[in-house]
Amino acid sequence: MPQKNSPAVNLNLNVRGLPLSATLRINEISNQMIREGKHVFKLGLGQSPFPVPAPVEEELKANAFQKDYLPVLGLSELRKAISAYFARTQAVTYGFDNIMVGPGSKELMFILQLVYYGDLVIPTPSWVSYAPQAHIIGRPIRWLPTKASHGWRLSPQEIENVFKMDPERPRLLILNYPNNPHGSSYSTNELREIARIAKKYRVVLLSDEIYGELKHNGEHISIARFYPEGTIISSGLSKWCGAGGWRLGVFAFPESLTWLKNAMAAVASETFTSTSAPIQYAAVRAFEGGREIEDYLFRSRMILKALGKQMVKEMTEANIAVNMPDGAFYLFPDFSHFRDKLLQNDIENSEQLCERLLSETGIAILPGSAFGRPPNELTARLSYVDFDGAKILTATHRFSDGQEPDVHFLEVYAPNCIRAIRIMVEWLKKL
Ligand code: GLU
Repeated sequence: MPQKNSPAVNLNLNVRGLPLSATLRINEISNQMIREGKHVFKLGLGQSPFPVPAPVEEELKANAFQKDYLPVLGLSELRKAISAYFARTQAVTYGFDNIMVGPGSKELMFILQLVYYGDLVIPTPSWVSYAPQAHIIGRPIRWLPTKASHGWRLSPQEIENVFKMDPERPRLLILNYPNNPHGSSYSTNELREIARIAKKYRVVLLSDEIYGELKHNGEHISIARFYPEGTIISSGLSKWCGAGGWRLGVFAFPESLTWLKNAMAAVASETFTSTSAPIQYAAVRAFEGGREIEDYLFRSRMILKALGKQMVKEMTEANIAVNMPDGAFYLFPDFSHFRDKLLQNDIENSEQLCERLLSETGIAILPGSAFGRPPNELTARLSYVDFDGAKILTATHRFSDGQEPDVHFLEVYAPNCIRAIRIMVEWLKKL
């Protein structure tokens, strides 16, 4: 039977001339330079330096034979493990049927923006892909201001100022903490306040907690505790489980947003179908947790905290303004104190700063402009991940009780990160 013609659809996807995402582009440029024999300090892409924990890797090996398509929303055993994980770690109840698994949380975010009709509301700075995803789909973007002096965190008042201008407007607010690109997190009181405002204006809150397990003090708190009916939690294996390339992301939906989950499942079924089967079986083990995984996380956090602290110390001593991170593996320095010197060297904006730094020192970092900062602001994101994660984890096993990595330890086990800062400081001095 001939098919009925579809009605004309005016779908203007904004993809013409779109460049590769900044994080992936810097990785490809860095790898190309390495292939050409140059030394690159790879502080561009935010990839976990740590190996996948042994029990999770073992589980993947044992499940290599899994070859069937899995349910669109994910393997039920995995969805149950994720539901139990959120109950155990955050005391929040997301039934297993309200969990959706996808090939990376990035893909789930794109589909969410596709199916939800509201404006995207994000802070500046924000991770590189939220805004381009909205741009591709054609959603309006509302940037919320933040200040370095307030740790680049959103102030509840600023959020309310924007929301009250048009109180009924449907909105998707993305909150990401510990944050990419600056590592800050929120206090419990701040989370309570933001939750109160989100609830008052009935916004859909996407809480991007992909770095939650990497809060340096191990005490991440989900905002879902304070606004359970409107919060979708986003997480995945990429950061805390060292498995970015495995591509496994998860969304946990409140009951009231089941319609969104169903709409996303429909799009998923017409696009990625289902997430890789062996990866999903292995992910069950990751979300079950246990002693070995806790130990791995404890050591990862200890290393990231000490390294972040040392780098901040050396940058601050050199007059580079930078905040101490609360979690993850990012720093967001501001080079404004060097503006005059930089200008004399034809460096006017963050992009030129990063290009010159890469070509003259081999240090790869990303410009603040890629994160929604004004182009002429001299901010940049530095991912302090250029070290051998397996080697440094093993080295911490020789620590005595309560011992923490000191500068000598970091010079030996994270030499590229420490050297990069010292070379950067020298470069600035010699300009
Ligand atoms: N989230 C990581 C970053 O900001 C890398 C992955 C990505 O951007 O897709 O560098």
